Amino acid sequence: MVEWWKPALVGVMFLLVFHGGPLFADEKDGRLDIYFIDVEGGAATLLITPAGESLLIDSGYPDNNFRDRDRIIKVLREETGRKQLDHAFVTHWHLDHYGNHAALASQIKIHNFWDRGIPETLAEDAKFGERIAHYRAASQGKSKKLSPGDTLPLKTTEKATDPQLTARIITASGEVIPNVGEPNLFASEFKPQADDPSDNAQSVSFLFKLGPFSFLDCGDLTWNTEAKLMTPNNPIGKVEVFMATHHGLNVSNNPVLVLAIDPRVVVFCNGPEKGGDLETLKTVRRGKSLQAIFQLHRNTRLKPEEQTGAEFIANTETTVDCKGRHIKLSVAPGGKEYTLQIAGQEKLHTFKTRE
Ligand SMILES: [Zn+2]
Repeated sequence: MVEWWKPALVGVMFLLVFHGGPLFADEKDGRLDIYFIDVEGGAATLLITPAGESLLIDSGYPDNNFRDRDRIIKVLREETGRKQLDHAFVTHWHLDHYGNHAALASQIKIHNFWDRGIPETLAEDAKFGERIAHYRAASQGKSKKLSPGDTLPLKTTEKATDPQLTARIITASGEVIPNVGEPNLFASEFKPQADDPSDNAQSVSFLFKLGPFSFLDCGDLTWNTEAKLMTPNNPIGKVEVFMATHHGLNVSNNPVLVLAIDPRVVVFCNGPEKGGDLETLKTVRRGKSLQAIFQLHRNTRLKPEEQTGAEFIANTETTVDCKGRHIKLSVAPGGKEYTLQIAGQEKLHTFKTRE
């Protein structure tokens, strides 16, 4: 008798062996994955595009025995199966944002460096000359300058009918894209703050879009530049997922921006004692379409009821004992739905993108 089931069994075993593990993004699964890596109140956001490219925006703090560099490499290798980075970006020249670009480049290949341009000096950092020398060496002096209106040259997926990921630079070096679009209904809420002479105000801001889905990361952009971008008109429309600006500090997250973009999900890249400010949380909660707030850390200075619910907080420990859990956002091909998940937790928070 012919043992008809044998080839079928071999087939099943083949599938189990070769597709039993996680499906890495470099297999081009068409998803957009965004990892908010915990760097204790700095920023390090890793994106794997639907076409399989890897983009790192900012790289956390230096020192601390390479804590942040190693957390980035761990996510890159173990979660995404990557050995190199296609693009590394610096939003602005503060150490919690470009602290590990050079250290990363000593461990993994980085193909392209991008920033807002390198200033001669930086008033707030007496050691800038020494620090930037490491960055220049790592990027071999070939980092590319980003300006408002630029679009990133991202690879497209093979199927021409697929919605493609786009990334547009909307602020850089204190400049913004033209203020066109619908009138911003919240423009009258603008109350100027003292001008910010620091590099925060010079931050590069990124607007990613995949079909109806959008994601906004403005680095540490501060109050008056946010208003310059968003008044009197709203040139960027609504945003689905917003990374609270500047770790959620209240010198950023001007209501004229936050309320106009009306995000459905907001992610705070805060530390235990940095960012995640009450005033910012209050502004975010005024949003008409808000469905969930995630925090990388419990804010040790606020009461539990003032911050987001325990199931939306990735790390509750202080920095000394912190496990450095990241938050993963995964957008379905085409951008019509997405999930958020805290590393090490089963719970998958599922959202449908607004039309
Ligand atoms: Zn910062």
